[in-house]
Amino acid sequence: MIAEKMKALVANNSAVRAMFEEGAKLKAIYGEENVFDFSLGNPNVAPPETVKEAIYDILENEEPTRVHGYMSNAGFETTRYAVAGSLNKRFNTSYTEHNIIMSVGAGSALNVILKTILNPGEEVITFAPYFLEYGGYVRNYDGQLTVVPADTETFQPNLDAFAELLSENTRAVIINTPHNPTGVIYSDETLSRLTRIMRKQEEKNGSPIFLISDEPYRALAYDGAVVPWVPDYYKNTFVAYSFSKALSLPGERIGYIVIPNQVEDHENVIAAATIATRVMGMVNAPSLMQLVIERCIDEKCDVAYYENNRNQLYNGLTGFGFECVKPEGAFYLWMKSPIPDEKEFVEAAKEFNILMVPGSSFACPGYVRLAYCVSFETIMASMEAFGKLAEKYNL
Ligand code: PLP
Repeated sequence: MIAEKMKALVANNSAVRAMFEEGAKLKAIYGEENVFDFSLGNPNVAPPETVKEAIYDILENEEPTRVHGYMSNAGFETTRYAVAGSLNKRFNTSYTEHNIIMSVGAGSALNVILKTILNPGEEVITFAPYFLEYGGYVRNYDGQLTVVPADTETFQPNLDAFAELLSENTRAVIINTPHNPTGVIYSDETLSRLTRIMRKQEEKNGSPIFLISDEPYRALAYDGAVVPWVPDYYKNTFVAYSFSKALSLPGERIGYIVIPNQVEDHENVIAAATIATRVMGMVNAPSLMQLVIERCIDEKCDVAYYENNRNQLYNGLTGFGFECVKPEGAFYLWMKSPIPDEKEFVEAAKEFNILMVPGSSFACPGYVRLAYCVSFETIMASMEAFGKLAEKYNL
């Protein structure tokens, strides 16, 4: 009885649930501490203490009807003002609260953007490997997702293939930096070339092609790496940001959209995005969390914890002979499967109680993803198991 569009989504969800259930089963048999679960991108680092203090203070001291009431669909003006101010300070921009719409995390930000710009049948392009939810988001608005094959040398976007695929039907391009699942940060050179290609196609089409920068991992960059500010490269850019990882608040569902004045027809685009939030039933982002964000706008979770995890896991795995991309940001490690069928490799790793996600879940078979947002102790304890796994494949 369910809608046609939902059938594929339900089938895919069963695969994710099966993985989740299998992890739970292993933990029940062997004990939580003896299962090395690198499958989920759920932050293990606590939110900063200031977040908790802000929640208490807001509940104690602010007017309850304001804290819990309806508001403008775009969100509290004071919160959007704080977001704009923080961006201006960091990226030398001149946004105002009008350029910011508070969202229910990055997932809703992407949906609001796509609902705002996409007509049925229009194409959205993204780059493998990619966060598979993009497919569902694009289908929500009857668009078509085209996936550019991976550049397995660098895992920067494959721009030669991209240039070939852009067409008069292309309406938007989604990028994600720092990147899930590879941990790569898109370089200045990548963004310059990518946007040059897009500008050329825009001219050919005579209509805008929007660049959507999905940035839930912006705050997680290592070795002092700089994550370039994408609107600096291309005028028709939307930014979808989230505090899910930056402040370890994924369950609270809070983020924002940036729509710069440089975006073509920006007044109408901002108006449409504001209405999209309402008609999609989100109405507005959670009010308490908006007020928390306003106070904690420049806070971050303990990024050094993830960096330390990254160092241990990357050094350990490469030491055993596994081929890995060194993550520059986010909290994922992308590893080449020692056999062509990475699903078989993922199955074999379970013998040693190691749980990973196959690359085909990101449209990039032959690789696996390890989420290292786990305790440092888990990483240390997993080393012996990875050593045995390496031995099994004669590395
Ligand atoms: N985009 C990417 C690449 C992600 O990895 C995630 C979550 O893991 C999201 C978007 C959605 O994030 P949020 O929790 O802010 O909706």
